Amino acid sequence: MPEVTLLAVILVLSAVLQAVAALIALRQVGRVDDRNRLAWLIVALALVLMVERRMVPLWRHINAGEVSSMMDALFGMAISMLMVVGVYGVTELITGLKSKADTDELTGLANRRAALQVVRNEIERAKRTHRSIAFLMYDLDHFKLVNDTYGHTAGDLVLQGIADIALATFRKIDTIGRLGGEEFLVVLPECNQKEASVAAERFRSAVALKKFVAGEQRIEITISIGVFIPDALTHTVTVQNVLDATDQALYAAKNGGRNCVVVQG
Ligand code: GH3
Ligand code: MG
Ligand code: MG
Repeated sequence: MPEVTLLAVILVLSAVLQAVAALIALRQVGRVDDRNRLAWLIVALALVLMVERRMVPLWRHINAGEVSSMMDALFGMAISMLMVVGVYGVTELITGLKSKADTDELTGLANRRAALQVVRNEIERAKRTHRSIAFLMYDLDHFKLVNDTYGHTAGDLVLQGIADIALATFRKIDTIGRLGGEEFLVVLPECNQKEASVAAERFRSAVALKKFVAGEQRIEITISIGVFIPDALTHTVTVQNVLDATDQALYAAKNGGRNCVVVQG
């Protein structure tokens, strides 16, 4: 292969690699939250500009029949490869760290911090769109007895099993978070009182019917659920209001004999 053709191939490969690096960075822009979006957009734009700056003069050289050093071109390609690996590594690292920081280790659900951030964001969205929103808090009934009778490991299995039922029961757009211990919060965007009641009741009965398996043991447990639907017209609600109101409804469900749903609107 003549040297000019080989050089052209190497340069095209370098350009493709640099474009891939820019695309990886752009993909990250779509995955990150608003706070980091601008930073990633700048990274992606910088990469695109680098491709442009490098390629245009080099193509001019080739078109003019001027063959620059092959070592330079190979070095350029090696840099492009490093750029892809570097950008990919950094974006995966950031995504991994972020998802770890947002996830409850035992259940795989959102942790308290992440769940409350979703509450904050969804309240804002509901205010903007004037759509109804529902919040649901649930707590396991007499869970201490499960730990005392079957052991802490069995208790952990029950917590995981109920989290799986929650994931299967609620919609993809709903967020289920562990507030702490055996207390959980579900955020149901674009959901009215009737829909929230139906979803809560479906979840409650699915848990009540389930026999959780821990070794030789078959464990039965129930949950109590408090539901709160803020006034759709005003939406003057804060994260603290949501926690207080769902907690009150949950308290009423516990006082009402447990294994039931109480709705507060
Ligand atoms: P109630 O119906 O009033 O909610 O009674 P309860 O026994 O569920 O409530 P209580 O607050 O008395 O006990 C909660 C128990 O949950 C005690 C605690 O050890 C247990 N628990 C909290 N977090 C975990 C966990 O991660 N794993 C296990 N196995 N148990 C946990
Ligand atoms: Mg409990
Ligand atoms: Mg509790």
